[in-house]
Amino acid sequence: MNCSAPLPGSPTLCLQPLWDRLLGLEGWIRSPFFPVSFSLGVYLSFCLPYVVMDLLAPRVVALQRYKIQAQNHPSVKMMANCLFQTLYNHLIFIFPLSVGHWYWSPMDLPLAAPELPRTVLDILACLLLFDFQYFVWHLLHHKVPWLYRTFHKAHHKYTATFALTTEHSGAWETLSLGFFAAVNPVILGCHPLCSFLFFTVNIWLSVEDHSGYDLPWATHRLVPFGLFGGAPHHDLHHMKFKANYAPYFTHWDRLLGTLATLHAKST
Ligand SMILES: [Zn+2]
Ligand SMILES: [Zn+2]
Repeated sequence: MNCSAPLPGSPTLCLQPLWDRLLGLEGWIRSPFFPVSFSLGVYLSFCLPYVVMDLLAPRVVALQRYKIQAQNHPSVKMMANCLFQTLYNHLIFIFPLSVGHWYWSPMDLPLAAPELPRTVLDILACLLLFDFQYFVWHLLHHKVPWLYRTFHKAHHKYTATFALTTEHSGAWETLSLGFFAAVNPVILGCHPLCSFLFFTVNIWLSVEDHSGYDLPWATHRLVPFGLFGGAPHHDLHHMKFKANYAPYFTHWDRLLGTLATLHAKST
């Protein structure tokens, strides 16, 4: 799939104004600081509303009804610990790697924006591919005790999720997931704008997965037929460990018999 190739009959240039604005920031986008500041900025922006909710929830009953584990509220110390881990991983691992990538593989920024339908399809394809890659990685890191103890246990420190637990993980997990996310738009030949949008959607979905809230507008409520697991699905993984290995969609867990819901556990 290639973002540059228009679909037959597709509307053209819908994304051009947005892409033109981004091209105005070309100096920043081409700088070695862009990947790490983009990743961190988007992540913390998406976490912020949930952090505010976590601080208010112990005193606001209206918020508690949306908590998946209503009795569990993260403390400021727990949130600070997760935030420190995220900043540490970005500074020590992601930043040097992204500088290396910037040096060895400069970004190509074409003048034309991608087609909107093609971009939507490519983002969906990137998400489905990431979902499969993470499912395999995750299953392996639960089934092999040494892999779990050495690499994945850090992410399971908290059995009740809250937004800042999203990136509470060790170096190997952070780099593996970062690699899957970074390589998918390359595999699919995506336009840079499609890549940026995929990274943004991917970060949003992973934060929502760990938010600990089942809100009325949650993604899993918008996708029909239970195809998307979302926060209740991933919170249950943190609570039960032995189910729901796919991060977003439910088809892989359904196929392998590892799908669990709050009402009926299959494992
Ligand atoms: Zn896990
Ligand atoms: Zn998790």
